[in-house]
Amino acid sequence: MDENNVKKHRAWIEINSKNLENNIIEIQKSIPTKCKIMAVLKANAYGHGIIQIGKCLNKIGITDFAVATITEGINLRQNNIKGNILILGYTHPDDIKKLIKYNLMQTIIDYDYAQKLNNLNSKIMVHIGINTGMNRNGENYQNIDNIIKIYEMQNLDVKGIYSHLCVADSSKENDINFTINQINNFETLIKQLKEKNIKIGKAHIQSSYGLLNYPKSQYDYVRTGSLIYGIYNTPNETLKLQLNLKPVLTLKSRITSIKEIEAGETVGYGRLFEASSDKKIASVSIGFADGYPRDLSNKNMQVKINNKFATIIGRICMDQLMIDISNIENVQVGDIVTLIGNEEEISAMKIAEEENTITCELLSRFGNRVERIIV
Ligand SMILES: *Cc1c(COP(=O)(O)O)cnc(C)c1O
Repeated sequence: MDENNVKKHRAWIEINSKNLENNIIEIQKSIPTKCKIMAVLKANAYGHGIIQIGKCLNKIGITDFAVATITEGINLRQNNIKGNILILGYTHPDDIKKLIKYNLMQTIIDYDYAQKLNNLNSKIMVHIGINTGMNRNGENYQNIDNIIKIYEMQNLDVKGIYSHLCVADSSKENDINFTINQINNFETLIKQLKEKNIKIGKAHIQSSYGLLNYPKSQYDYVRTGSLIYGIYNTPNETLKLQLNLKPVLTLKSRITSIKEIEAGETVGYGRLFEASSDKKIASVSIGFADGYPRDLSNKNMQVKINNKFATIIGRICMDQLMIDISNIENVQVGDIVTLIGNEEEISAMKIAEEENTITCELLSRFGNRVERIIV
């Protein structure tokens, strides 16, 4: 990549389009030929940059997308992203005309919601959400009469039906049984609808862990976010399906100032770090408002600079953080600091684990001040 392109950026995310393509191919190899990837681009594509990721995916032939909100869907359309876009979350009925204007598909949250939308006299495309045990959105799978009525509603053009698994990432026996039950109940519903000659449209239930742990299932879509970005929830999971995924995101920032401090001096807010010996330290232009968690202050978190690891010291500030560069030679203002990368020490998974969360939460919080660049 041309260093000049990012010369002035204070903090940025690099999207590795080769790795993205690798992940898509890995997923495609492991799903039935009739099954397509529905790429989940919600939450700014899990922090990766919704437009950058949407464009890369369009280029490599992906034409089915899911988002959480209508605003995300409109943003994709306004940036010329082609294909089907399904909104997974609730859209206020007042915004229904926008679904048509921007050619978006809406999830039917439940029977009452279907009635409300049907009464608006605008014909819209929908997928019916089915609740098989998560108890978030979705009409209960037992209410087959209501589900049939939704299919028959004049103003709803039903393109698909789907459910969502809530413990597919677990290897506990109880959870496996629960998931198998969810899948069975969904399949029974589909069979019953087909027996009544209803054109059910596309059926889908697997998200990333649904594919990883229940890979034998046969559906029209696998709705996946995490896998396309090459991220697992946590390290060392046992999975039925092994994919050779590569992380798509690298988080970088820059050194803005270098100081020598003496033993006994402290660094940053709260004077949390105290130097045990003379040290050379540097400040870096990224902070918790950009998405690097403040919780990780003074916890020996590593960053990489000139191919060597340095430790984050003191309290992470809103816009900056400080690192100990005593053992690294020739560091200069403007040098690039990698905070999330492919090495184990700075992998998103490891940083998320230190923060007691999953990789998706860590990455989806990277904010607007962080530029997204395709490399
Ligand atoms: C977020 C979400 C997905 C994608 O989940 P991953 O685990 O990242 O693949 C799929 N389906 C629904 C309904 C979702 O809310």
